[in-house]
Amino acid sequence: MPKRRRNPRNADVSDVNGEDDVVLRETAPLQLRYYGDSVLRKRAKPVVEITDADIQLAEQMLMTLEATGNGIGLAATQVGVLKRLTVVDLGEVDDEVYEPLVLFNPEILSSEGEIVAEEGCLSIPDITADVKRPERIVVEGINVQRESIRIESDGLLARVLLHEIDHLNGVLFIDRISGLKRRLLSDELLRLQQAPRPS
Ligand SMILES: [Zn+2]
Repeated sequence: MPKRRRNPRNADVSDVNGEDDVVLRETAPLQLRYYGDSVLRKRAKPVVEITDADIQLAEQMLMTLEATGNGIGLAATQVGVLKRLTVVDLGEVDDEVYEPLVLFNPEILSSEGEIVAEEGCLSIPDITADVKRPERIVVEGINVQRESIRIESDGLLARVLLHEIDHLNGVLFIDRISGLKRRLLSDELLRLQQAPRPS
């Protein structure tokens, strides 16, 4: 899921120190999958044993997210990997800096309230719409240290987690908007579906 305004941390990418620079050159971002790609409609499978390769995938996903310049969440499905893995990097929100989060096998334990806010998706460029979602959630999953964690969240974090967990179930945010709004977007969605993409 992209941020609505540009992340100031990412605006300074040219200012990274020499060491980071080498890492950036050695690991290329993963190829994003876009609307119209059938992989986005598939249900991802639980990660039974988290291997070193899975940890590396999570790190590559965080890097891919960073490379988008405005991304705050990414599901493995969006890089064509059908594993239940998502990464979130909110950066700075309302003067609070959030650490990047890796979550394997995220499960929503409970949700309450309802709130409408604008969303977009890195896999559906240039389209945004208001989406109604639960306001507060409790999510459980396994972090990058292979520890089971429980996250109680609201606001942007809750929204991103719900958006990314939807991806793992083959659900896109445009599935959650009103029929009228979707009809208004239908030409644009068709154009995206038919747009040539790098393979
Ligand atoms: Zn998305």
